[in-house]
Order: sequence, then C-alpha cells, then structure tokens
Amino acid sequence: MPLVNAKEMLTKAKAGHYAVGQFNINNLEWTKAILLTAEELKSPVILGVSEGAGKYMCGYKTVVGMVEGMLEELGITVPVALHLDHGSYEGAKKCIEAGFSSIMFDGSHYPIEENFEKTKELVAICEEKGLSIEAEVGSIGGEEDGVIGMGECADPDECKLIADLGVTMLAAGIGNIHGVYPENWPGLSFETLDAIQAKTGIMPLVLHGGTGIPDDMIQKAIALGVSKINVNTECQIVFAEATRAYIEAGKDRQGKGFDPRKLLAPGTEAIKAKVKEKMEIFGSVGKA
Ligand SMILES: [Zn+2]
Repeated sequence: MPLVNAKEMLTKAKAGHYAVGQFNINNLEWTKAILLTAEELKSPVILGVSEGAGKYMCGYKTVVGMVEGMLEELGITVPVALHLDHGSYEGAKKCIEAGFSSIMFDGSHYPIEENFEKTKELVAICEEKGLSIEAEVGSIGGEEDGVIGMGECADPDECKLIADLGVTMLAAGIGNIHGVYPENWPGLSFETLDAIQAKTGIMPLVLHGGTGIPDDMIQKAIALGVSKINVNTECQIVFAEATRAYIEAGKDRQGKGFDPRKLLAPGTEAIKAKVKEKMEIFGSVGKA
C-alpha cells in the first residue's frame, strides 16, 4: 500500500477512542522494525522524521525513497503516513516537495499571529496536495533538535483559532515534555486537555513526549480526545540498551558477531517489542 496521509486514520481513532502511534525513525533498522510491527499487529502507523533525523538520513528524498521501497518490498498493507516532526516553515515545504504524506508545522515559538499566518499558508498547500498537517500551540517542554520548550499549557482559545484553520491534527502543550521526564514532573494537565477538547471538538489532538508518561495517564488522555501519541526517546533507549548488552557480552567478538546484520539485530528486536507494547497501550492493534 502506498503512503497515505494521516487524516482518515486519525478520524477513525478519534471516533473509536484509541490513538495511533507516531514512532520516529532514525535509520533503516528503525523503519523496518516499526513497519514490520505495525503489519504484524494490523495497526495503522505514523513514521515521524525530525529535521535533524532527516538530515542524518541524507535528506528527505532519501527518506521517502527508503520508506516507499520498504512498503513495497515488505508487502506492507496497513496504512502508513510519513510525517515531518516539528517542522520549520522551510522544512515543511521541502518535505511536501520530497513526497512526505504528512507534515507538522511547529510555529509554537512564534507569536500567535505569526503562527496563525504561517500555518494558514501551509494548510492551503497541504489541502491542494492531499497531505495532512499538524500544528502546534503552546510549546512542549524538553529539548528537540536544539529547540528547548518550557512545557507550558496551551491557551484553549488559541488552540481553537489554529484548529479552525483546517489543520488535520493539533499538538497542544498540556505539561508534556520531550525526552525523559524528571523525578518531580507534576503530570499531564487534564484540566487543560479537557478545556482544549471542549473548544476544538472533533479535532484529533496530539500528545508529544510519550516516553515515560504512565499508562493510566495515557489512557485518560485518549479518553479526553488524544488520537495521536508521539514516541521517540523510548525506542532510542531500548535500542542502545540491547546493543550495549550484545557488546558487553562479547558477542561481537564471537565468530562473525561483528557483522552489522548481527550487531544491530538485538536493538532492532528491542524496538519491535517497544512499538508492540505501545500499540497495545494506545489501542490501535487490529484497527488497520
Ligand atoms: Zn514533539
């Protein structure tokens, strides 16, 4: 199945009270692990690509080529969207050109008027080309590609303003943070989420920083209108741990254990297990 935009899968998720996972990719192993797991579990999936990861993978065209090739060669039948994560205005345009099926324009660091104008312009382009578009209101804490947010809670009225531009999905800060949550993290602000949901209605809401949010908070967020949850750091951690275990056990020095296909296999399997765990918690299994 060719790439699809994220509109239909998220509309279904919102109506069905579950969430579709966005799993960020960093290389071939990541992409393969996520696609195979989605296929095995018959779950829709969104592959997230940050601008930094896009650069690392030699540009957006390389990413599109790799993902489209895999969809065909692996015989993937579940809906897959290829989505720019936290895109700049210029990055979003480049991804549209390169063949992504979905973009996020993160204008949360601009004054709301500028975020509004730029989002509006990109909504028009995406509509014309058949892409889905995610906008952001209220910055999300932690660090993503050098951009550090304070983890604020979004203003529900500003959320409505941006949602009404015709975006497909909306990311709003509700106390969530990218990366690992600190010990003293007070948790998600369900009050804010509820107020945003009341103003934006059927708009699928996006929860960034899915790593380390307790399962019961995830479930509650889904019940309150979250239909897309982003997972990145957690896959990186399990990949690194599994690779470390392989090397510490000296397996790279046994026989041809240095072969990258062997060396990277435990990390790839660890990503698969993590993606499976998340899809089960999000409720997207069997929803393809
Ligand atoms: Zn994010």
